[in-house]
Amino acid sequence: MDGLMQERELLISDILGFAARYHRGAKIVTARPDGSTVHHTYPQIHARAAKLANALKARGVKPGERIATLAWNDHRHLELYYGISGIGAVCHTINPRLFPPQVAFIVKDAEDTHLFVDPMFLPLVEGVADAIAGVVKTIVVLDDKVPDSKLGNRFEVVDYESFIAPGSERIEWPRFDEKTAAALCYTSGTTGDPKGVLYSHRSTVLHAYAGNMADVTGHRSVDVVLPVVPLFHVCGWGIPYQAPMAGTSLVMPGPRLDGASIYRLCEQESVTGMAGVPTVWMGLLKYLRESGNRFTNPPRLVVGGSAMPTAIAVAFEKEYGVVIRHAWGMTEMSPLGTINMPKVENANWTTDERLAHFKSQGRPIFGVDLKVVDDHGNEVANDGKAFGELLVRGPWIASSYFGRPNDPNFTADGWFRTGDVVTIDQSGYIEIVDRAKDVIKSGGEWISSIELENIAVGHPAVQEAAVIGVNHPKWDERPLLLVVAKEGETPTRDELLGWYQGKVAKWWVPDDVVIVDSLPHTATGKLLKTELKKRFADHILPAA
Ligand code: AMP
Repeated sequence: MDGLMQERELLISDILGFAARYHRGAKIVTARPDGSTVHHTYPQIHARAAKLANALKARGVKPGERIATLAWNDHRHLELYYGISGIGAVCHTINPRLFPPQVAFIVKDAEDTHLFVDPMFLPLVEGVADAIAGVVKTIVVLDDKVPDSKLGNRFEVVDYESFIAPGSERIEWPRFDEKTAAALCYTSGTTGDPKGVLYSHRSTVLHAYAGNMADVTGHRSVDVVLPVVPLFHVCGWGIPYQAPMAGTSLVMPGPRLDGASIYRLCEQESVTGMAGVPTVWMGLLKYLRESGNRFTNPPRLVVGGSAMPTAIAVAFEKEYGVVIRHAWGMTEMSPLGTINMPKVENANWTTDERLAHFKSQGRPIFGVDLKVVDDHGNEVANDGKAFGELLVRGPWIASSYFGRPNDPNFTADGWFRTGDVVTIDQSGYIEIVDRAKDVIKSGGEWISSIELENIAVGHPAVQEAAVIGVNHPKWDERPLLLVVAKEGETPTRDELLGWYQGKVAKWWVPDDVVIVDSLPHTATGKLLKTELKKRFADHILPAA
């Protein structure tokens, strides 16, 4: 029809171009491993991304080619996000915390031709050199020099500054179809091989717009955002795109993610917002309590990635005035899906009422369509009680895995099965009860391990908790509570089980407790329940 809008493509390069043109005053601060900082502006990052893009093109990198990163959050990683995707190649972020064989698997599966590596991950690359030698041609060390390594015999090894030096800082970013692949990230997966999720320019730009809505992260030009979430997790939860789109300043924490370093950086750079997984906020809270330090201006935090104990959110808000927004998402979803923000119906809640609802992962963000279904595919009652599997669809949700077109997680009618078991209430707020594979079934009824863990962590002597199902002759499975005690604390079995009194139905109370030194985690910080189930498979419950 005549008179329609223009069909200008949504391209990632436009985001950085916009920031360089209109937000010259914003700062991009990178913390170096030695604690010092280096400052850039968006025009400078744009110029360096252009040099990288021109250097890649000059070396014959083609649209669609996968270029990998193994790197912490710093300005060079940000340049890689833009320089690679900007020319139509695919920025493949790899999680360096994965087991080396998984890293090798991922590099081969993606057929990465170049690997951009932080110096501290070179030993990891040396360890997998044999496995990736047939695929990777060039290793670029993210520094201005190449340290001694054995890699020179097998690969071209060059430092980043020399690599980009020949490229011009002027560029006319190419225009192409917005459905072109831009970035690739593998799900960490607690079982089986990791699977690749391929983001397009269109999905990435739309996701960045959504992330910048006031009820989501709400970044403004006057804000200073510190992504504690690594840029190798699901495109850094969109912050590397949201911030330049909004003209927001960025503080890149480098490799130091401990409470003391994050606190110091926050104070030094007047940070207004941060995002990360529960583990980092627990570390920060521990640091604040031990050091007695307080924020001059409390930043706003966003948490997601795994279940965040309500007790931590309560402590942050009541003791330190730090308000935490609770979000849920997945690698397959770019990742934003839902966020726990008030609506007009509950805008008058007191702080206590609001915190009592903290554990809900929130309501859908526009662009994410969801439904909760039972085993027969019928939608469950939206009463906040009935459980079912959560299915989602939308413009920034994967339609299949990279190179694996027939995965059963994607339904024939266009939905992605999240594997999360949730309740949903009348207002659309969901609460994750479990991962489908972690759910405990006792006498045919579901018990939420997440709920039980959440309660355990509220106990003053508990540092971390996991609940798994173990075999029971009568009930099939019963919950077993595994607890890491806080330093100097020795909580007893009776004390911990008594803590559940009045908080859950009697039949949900775990049958036994084991105090452990530590709990295993996946590379993205989630409890590794498959490992715990194996380790405690023969555990005999007292009542069994
Ligand atoms: P990943 O793709 O590695 O980000 O993992 C996604 C999974 O992490 C989801 O399917 C959930 O099981 C879990 N997850 C993410 N956010 C939350 C949250 N806020 N609370 C509980 N679990 C979460």
